[in-house]
Amino acid sequence: MTFATSNPLVQPWNTPHGLPPFAEVRAEHFRPAFDAALSEHLADIEAIASSSEPPSFENTVAALDRSGRLLARVEALFYNLTSSETSPALQAVEREMAAPLAAHNSVVYMNARLFERIDTLHAQRATLGLAPEQLRLLERIHLDFVRAGAKLGGGAQTRYAQVMQSLAELTTRFGQNVLADESAYRLVLRGERDLAGLPDFVCAAARQAAVDRGITDACVITLSRSHIVPFLTFSDRRDLREQAWRAWISRGEHDGEHDNRPVAREILTLRNEQARLHGYACYADYALADTMAGTQVAVDGLLQQVWVPAKARAEQERQALQALVMSRNESLQIEAWDWRYYAEKVRQARYDLDEAAVKPYFPLDRMVEAVFDCAQRLFGVRFTARTDLQAYHPDVKVYEVRQAADDSLVGIFLHDNFARPTKRSGAWMSLYRSQSRNSSSPGEGVLPIVVNNNNFAKGAPGEPTLLSFDDARTLFHEFGHGLHGLLSSVTYERLSGTNVLRDFVELPSQLFEHWLSERQVLKKHARHHLTGEPIPDELITKLEAASKFNQGYETVRYVASARVDMAAHALTASEGPDITAFEKAENERMGLPAAVGMNHRLAHFQHLFAGSGYAAGYYVYLWAEVLDADGYDAFTEAGNPFDASVAKRLRQFIYSSGNSREPREAYRAFRGRDPSVQPMLRERGLLAEDSPA
Ligand SMILES: [Zn+2]
Repeated sequence: MTFATSNPLVQPWNTPHGLPPFAEVRAEHFRPAFDAALSEHLADIEAIASSSEPPSFENTVAALDRSGRLLARVEALFYNLTSSETSPALQAVEREMAAPLAAHNSVVYMNARLFERIDTLHAQRATLGLAPEQLRLLERIHLDFVRAGAKLGGGAQTRYAQVMQSLAELTTRFGQNVLADESAYRLVLRGERDLAGLPDFVCAAARQAAVDRGITDACVITLSRSHIVPFLTFSDRRDLREQAWRAWISRGEHDGEHDNRPVAREILTLRNEQARLHGYACYADYALADTMAGTQVAVDGLLQQVWVPAKARAEQERQALQALVMSRNESLQIEAWDWRYYAEKVRQARYDLDEAAVKPYFPLDRMVEAVFDCAQRLFGVRFTARTDLQAYHPDVKVYEVRQAADDSLVGIFLHDNFARPTKRSGAWMSLYRSQSRNSSSPGEGVLPIVVNNNNFAKGAPGEPTLLSFDDARTLFHEFGHGLHGLLSSVTYERLSGTNVLRDFVELPSQLFEHWLSERQVLKKHARHHLTGEPIPDELITKLEAASKFNQGYETVRYVASARVDMAAHALTASEGPDITAFEKAENERMGLPAAVGMNHRLAHFQHLFAGSGYAAGYYVYLWAEVLDADGYDAFTEAGNPFDASVAKRLRQFIYSSGNSREPREAYRAFRGRDPSVQPMLRERGLLAEDSPA
């Protein structure tokens, strides 16, 4: 048997819907599959570049968009597995492949004959008679090449390629280091005293985590958000809270082989060089040049507009916590590991809202039904479980997504909801295959395969998994990204789905969170896991009243991280800073309250350093929030959260249009005007007239 026929990655995937052959794939298949896929892609590129025909949109731009499909397929599978179900063997391949893949990218983007053809077409673009999407594709591809170094001189190109390879290796190592610190940590709780204050659901998840780790007579708190945040919220044991909190915020910051401090510093050094090779003073300027925001001034303006009222609100919140401490005849000063604990007590007292009383109404299965139902009511799509199809882990569910009206297939959806040691932390959407209609056999479309990853603490065997309201919001958020991938309806893969400017990409996800807060959605789907009773009106009212509670704290933590990100990438010195000292100095300069802290410290800030997607880009959530708060008002104004005509425009201009339109123009087409900042400030309770929460 020859290699090509024995490696399941290289063979055609004759599986249902072309899903990856998960059951047959082994780590050792990837290196040879990458080699085969890289050669195939280079051959595609060479054929386009060396064509004797004069360049045309079809033989150059559309052909380029079709090239490298095997590579895309192998790469997507590989990186999905290293994120969701990794192993030492996959991690070794990941480290081994980082540089060759980056080098391959450079070879493609620095192919002078190929770029000459694209550049020629770009110069003639107004006279080529292109359809709007074709023109957009040509402009985007031209820009991709320029931003990847196609216009640099020979010596600079060589150096640029080296920089990109080193960055690929370093960002790979950064993510693996965080996972190592997270997997290594366990706070073992033994006996009643260690469990003081913890509600049943926290204990149950901690017992399950212990069982998963082979510990039978204790409970374990891990550094997964769905463990650590409830622990910090409920544990009466101040000493253990401090211990857990310190472990959480010091990820990536330990001496030894997993120390991320020198890694982050080197990444900042190389990004600065990357930007200077392009003629920018700093990486932030280079990164922002291809965003809606465009400049540091625009980003700083938005962050500052929120920072000032958020800090004032956080100080009011701190005083309320301190007052509670006094009323309990305790003498402590609120520290970072106390904030969530006392905030929960204030929340219970002020809104009579107990998180442990909320969770029974948010079983995971019902919330999954809720997201599907909202998608059906808005966009007419139906999700059907294919229990006969296995993905890469038994916990992953596979769904067919069909347009209910004519039963036509829209795409495939994988739902991977539980935390496990082989999965990175956080929540994210990803793709195994992007939607497009640019096939070599005309009329044959490619349907998307989308995955949502969450990290919910799994209920004990026989027990349901209960979500907090925040967890449920995360579920809706990722599902919004999922719909952005699934509903994509464009011709060219480069413009498909979530492949949009990065300060636009959080719009479909954050917008979708709003439906969770709709009373009619809650009454229908938030049902008690034992009795099936819908959530009482009274509890909804309390949830609504409490929704602005602690927003000063949350906003300060987020904006502080966004500002440190921007500051670190705005440095013009050629040498990266000592990140611990830099972060400390920035926090002092901003006046970050120590008892609040940051969402992500630099040594484990994976958005910035485990890849480049959000480098100088953590602000995008707030940028998109301006759009989603304003966008959701369109439904409010229509008087119906499922208004058919608003939903139709939403699908046409936002969820299905990918990057085929310029984002400002797409938003205007949906909303009929530019967005206003006021709805975002109102939702966060940060308008001047909002009373202190
Ligand atoms: Zn998101």
